[in-house]
Amino acid sequence: MTPAAETLLRRAIELAVAARAAGNPPFGSLLAAPDGTVLAEDGNTSLTDNDITAHPELKLARWAAANLDPETAKQTTMYTSTQPCGMCAGALERSGLGRVVYALSGEQLNALKPGGGFQPVAQEGPALYDEAKAAVDGYYT
Ligand SMILES: [Zn+2]
Repeated sequence: MTPAAETLLRRAIELAVAARAAGNPPFGSLLAAPDGTVLAEDGNTSLTDNDITAHPELKLARWAAANLDPETAKQTTMYTSTQPCGMCAGALERSGLGRVVYALSGEQLNALKPGGGFQPVAQEGPALYDEAKAAVDGYYT
């Protein structure tokens, strides 16, 4: 990792510390252009917003999709204090952002939690294929 990338990653960690000081879980992220210019940054606000989706990675993925053209998004890197969770990884796939650099891995984070990580919710399906397919037919052409 380059010294410039480490500086951006340290800023993401600072945002995590600030989120914690503000009463939220300790996570922070930023978006950087190829020249290192910070385009946007945010911290976790899931407690103060009473919103389980208020992770900085998800908020910045939404910001990128709404504010960056596809080519700029592809050139943009997210620096984040911790590896994006499954929810945020899904949003990142849809955001068009080109790359994520993280400090703490999800595995390392879960090792620091007394109960480990979140557990998956049971899912059931597929079912009612013809009816469900009719709603989608012709949409993706
Ligand atoms: Zn997340």
